[in-house]
Amino acid sequence: MIVDKRPSSYSGGYPDYHTHTGRCGHAQGTAAEYVQAARQKGLPGIGISDHLPLVHLRDPVLTMAADQLEGYVEAVLELKERYPGYVLLGVEADYRPDTLDQVRTMLDQHPFDYVIGSVHYIEDWGFDDPRQQDGFQERDVDNVYRAYFELLGDAAETGLFDILGHLDLVKKFGYRAQSSLKDETRILATRLRSSGIVVEVNTAGLRKPVGEMYPAPEVLKVLAKNGVPITFGSDAHTPEDVGRDFGSAAALARKVGYSEYVSLGGAPEGRQSAALRRFLPLEPAAGAGTS
Ligand code: ZN
Ligand code: FE
Ligand code: FE
Ligand code: ZN
Repeated sequence: MIVDKRPSSYSGGYPDYHTHTGRCGHAQGTAAEYVQAARQKGLPGIGISDHLPLVHLRDPVLTMAADQLEGYVEAVLELKERYPGYVLLGVEADYRPDTLDQVRTMLDQHPFDYVIGSVHYIEDWGFDDPRQQDGFQERDVDNVYRAYFELLGDAAETGLFDILGHLDLVKKFGYRAQSSLKDETRILATRLRSSGIVVEVNTAGLRKPVGEMYPAPEVLKVLAKNGVPITFGSDAHTPEDVGRDFGSAAALARKVGYSEYVSLGGAPEGRQSAALRRFLPLEPAAGAGTS
């Protein structure tokens, strides 16, 4: 575990691309409050990425309803206009093989700057939902990890997503695979690299039972070795968590071999131009270079 000497509330100089608003039913704050928080903390940019309505299920504490999507998009576009070059319109979409076409259609109907693709389901099991945590007791945990890694690779290869969300979320409640899964991790890294997807270093895991960022250091190291690019995301569900622990996230990235991260370009035409990625250098380690 990397220990950053700065306070845990320190926000490094990196944009936060993973944030949720009250619309999802399990977060607090408006998009405007998130933007305000990012500005106050001195972040160089923020993307709002609320949960795209699920297709296979309507649950008011998981995502907004389908008829709220338009209002979400409009609210963020307004902020984007007010803070040009600072705010991006993102969204976090679930990857499920059975709803891929409907998700693609929903995404195509709105000018998202970027889409975070997340795997929260293995078949119909919502493994990160506290209400379904028992599922770990009914399954072989190693096989859960294998199935999950497989889905991540599939998600990346759809080409539908710009960022792969909280890679290794499956560890959230602290259930760990007994086998090393080194081969599976290496294969996944190869698939991610050739898909061109960006992986986020997501600090939310630090606030969950597992107490560790997504992905784990040993996984991130394999990604670094394979040249998979990274962004940073807090997965904040309250404005106070914007940019949370980014100092530690960057320290971890440097430690495993990264020297750059990806900054997304917001463009008026929306998503097609979110491919406008810039590779920017990671900041030097805290306290280094000065005396
Ligand atoms: Zn959420
Ligand atoms: Fe998620
Ligand atoms: Fe999220
Ligand atoms: Zn998330």
